[in-house]
Amino acid sequence: MLSTRKNTAEAAPPRSHPPRTRAGAAIAAEVNFRSVQHAYGRTPSLRGIDLDVAPGEVVCLLGPSGCGKSTLLRLTAGLDDLVSGHIVINGREVSGPRYTLPPERRGVGLMFQDYALFPHLNILENVMFGLRGLAREDAEREARNALARVGLETYWKDYPHALSGGEQQRVALARAIVPRPSVLLMDEPFSGLDKRLRDSVREETMSVLRETRATSILVTHDPEEAMRMADRIVLMRAGRIVQAGTSHDLYHTPIDLQVARFFSEINVVASVIENGMAVTPVGRFPAPGLRTGAAANVCIRQQGISLTPQHPAQGGAAEAGFAARIVSRRFLGEVDVVELAAEGLDQTLTARVRGLRAGGPGMEVRASIMPADVLVFAANEG
Ligand code: ADP
Repeated sequence: MLSTRKNTAEAAPPRSHPPRTRAGAAIAAEVNFRSVQHAYGRTPSLRGIDLDVAPGEVVCLLGPSGCGKSTLLRLTAGLDDLVSGHIVINGREVSGPRYTLPPERRGVGLMFQDYALFPHLNILENVMFGLRGLAREDAEREARNALARVGLETYWKDYPHALSGGEQQRVALARAIVPRPSVLLMDEPFSGLDKRLRDSVREETMSVLRETRATSILVTHDPEEAMRMADRIVLMRAGRIVQAGTSHDLYHTPIDLQVARFFSEINVVASVIENGMAVTPVGRFPAPGLRTGAAANVCIRQQGISLTPQHPAQGGAAEAGFAARIVSRRFLGEVDVVELAAEGLDQTLTARVRGLRAGGPGMEVRASIMPADVLVFAANEG
C-alpha cells in the first residue's frame, strides 16, 4: 500500500540540520517528441506533439486541466503506450507505435503529485528503494547523501507519517534523484502543499535540479509556478502545443488571447482597425498586420492602467489618458482592484493599482494605459 497523504503545514518538531551536501550530477539527456498521438479508448488526448527538450533544460508543461499534460508525462515515463509517433531519449527510441521501453529501463526519475512514499518503510529505506540494483552498503551511502542534500539526513529512521507534507515531498525528491536519472519527470509535484511550503519546497527542488543537471519535464497548471521554474514553458490546449518559449516570450508575445489570459489578468475591449490602429473609446493602439475594417480584441493588462485624480481645472482632449469614474474599489493589500466606467465604453475596466490613496465609488479620475501592457489580436483568434 502506498501512502498518498497530502499534508499541509503540520510540522514535525524542528531539528538542527547538518550542512547539506551536493546532489550527484546526472548525464543530462535530450528528449525528442515526434508527432506523438495518444487516445483513451476512442477519445484522443494528444493530437500530434512535436517537441525537443535539450540536455539539462527545465521544461514546464502548462495548460488547463484535461489538455493532456499528464498523459504526455506518462508516455515519457513509459507508463502508457502511444498510438502513433515516437519518443526518443538520447537518440534511442523509447516509445513507438509498436514498442514501449519499460519505465525502469529509461533512466527517468519520477516525482508525481501524491509522492507515494511507502508507509511501512522508513525514510532511508524509501530512498534506497530507487537503488535496488546496488549493494546495500553502496545504496545506503547514496541514499544518505541524497537525504542530506534535501536537508533530511537526521530523519532517516522516521516513517513517512511522522513527517510534514513538505518533508515528505523532499523525501520524494531525494528518492527521485538518488539513481541520478538523466531525465526527471514531475507531475504537479507541489500542488499538495500549502502556499508557504510550496514556495520553499519549490526553491529547494530548483536548486537540486540545477545541481543534478538532469533534464526536467514538469507538469503544472499554475502559470506562476511555470514562470518561476522553467527555462521554457510549453503551453498546451486540447492535446496540442499552442506555444513554447521562455516565460518572457509567452508573457510579452502571446500567440493569442487565451495565452495572454493565462499569464495576466486582462480587460478585453472590442475594436475596429483603422489604418493600422485599433480604435477604442479609451485610446488607439498599434495593430500591425491587421487591415482596416477588421474586428480586433484589444487586451489591456489590469496592472497597465494607472489612475490620477481628476481636478476640475484639468481634463480635456489635450491631456493624456481618458476620463473615468470609479465604480468600485477593493483593497487586496499590495494592490487595489478598481472597477472603472469610461465614457463611450459599455463595459467596465478593471485596474490593479498600487498605492492608490484617496478615491472611492463615484470619484472622477484620469486613467492612462501603458502601451507595453496592451496586446491586439484579430477578433477571430482565441
Ligand atoms: P491534464 O494533465 O492536462 O489535466 P490529462 O493528460 O490527465 O490532462 O488528460 C487528458 C484527457 O484525457 C482529458 O480529457 C482526460 O479526461 C482524459 N483522460 C485522462 N486519463 C484518462 C483515463 N485514465 N481514461 C480516460 N480518459 C482519461
